[in-house]
Amino acid sequence: MNFEFINFELANNLVICVHVNPDGDAIGSALALKHYLERKGKQATIIVPNIFPDFLKWLPGADSILVYTNNKHKEQAKTAIGQADLVIVCDLNQPNRLGYMEEDIMQSKAPRILIDHHLDPDTNFCGVIMSHPEMCATGEVICHLLSEQGELDSISQDEATCLYTAMMCDTGAFSFNSNRPVIYEYISHLLARGIDKDQIYRNVFWTASEGRLRLLGYLLYVNMKVLHERRTTIITLTNEERRRFKVKNGDTEGIVNIPLTVLGMRLSIFINEDTEHPGIMKLSLRSVGDFPCDQMALRFFGGGGHKNASGGKLQCTMPEAVEKVKAAIDSYADMLK
Ligand code: 5GP
Ligand code: MN
Repeated sequence: MNFEFINFELANNLVICVHVNPDGDAIGSALALKHYLERKGKQATIIVPNIFPDFLKWLPGADSILVYTNNKHKEQAKTAIGQADLVIVCDLNQPNRLGYMEEDIMQSKAPRILIDHHLDPDTNFCGVIMSHPEMCATGEVICHLLSEQGELDSISQDEATCLYTAMMCDTGAFSFNSNRPVIYEYISHLLARGIDKDQIYRNVFWTASEGRLRLLGYLLYVNMKVLHERRTTIITLTNEERRRFKVKNGDTEGIVNIPLTVLGMRLSIFINEDTEHPGIMKLSLRSVGDFPCDQMALRFFGGGGHKNASGGKLQCTMPEAVEKVKAAIDSYADMLK
């Protein structure tokens, strides 16, 4: 394992970057690495392609994150990339997942390290690949690396908080993709570093705005279509509705999982009009059991992901997107019976 690369004298000015529409695993993992590297005397700058949800802003160090699409951060981000002697790429498996910052990162002369848990990583865009698709989160990959280095018991409380948040977010608070016992061994080490896991849970999952609650009611009551014979639900959200409900960044997080609480449902698809690019429909897919969301996203929506959670995009109107999604669902009729 090549974690030494990060740990050692080779690099002093690091850039840590993550995927577009960063989630709790991306932000938690990046912040854990930043705290770790700074404790080792390095400089580390986190740059994310676009804004991240408000429910992650309490994380220690979150206010230092540079948002590439924020004009106030752009210069600083470009300078950091230009001066970097090592780039750590987190929680993604293909360079195009870097979104708006793909070109800058790929043109940087600094060597790149990938730390990730997605299937089938592109093996050409980073010199060192630490890919563990069997792990629940990039946060777990980092716990594993720290554990191998004998460092898991000397991390700071902030590092531990960020790592716990990363794993908690990618497993729905340890409710899916989280049966491997070693995850709980890591958690016991993190608890010993003084994290407050109950508070972390409340900060992330139990802090809805009034807007989110009303939007949730509307989406489930008015917009959700249930295709009973396909055991699938489709929820749509346009930018016009977003404005009407004063939807804030992060307010839609997790809503795609809710239809799967209906007994017998196998697949839930959320079609979200892109706030930054109206006319692009962003899809989120979630399944229970063996239904391969990643295959569907790859075949029909130019995306990918994991077996039970994937995403992709369509360039069309919302009604067209709904028709395309229905056609994709029909082509899996056998598996959705
Ligand atoms: P979410 O629904 O939370 O946006 O995405 C769920 C998972 O699907 C992500 O963790 C990521 O692995 C994958 N994913 C989402 N959007 C895309 C995409 O456009 N391309 C690819 N390759 N994967 C995606
Ligand atoms: Mn992840």
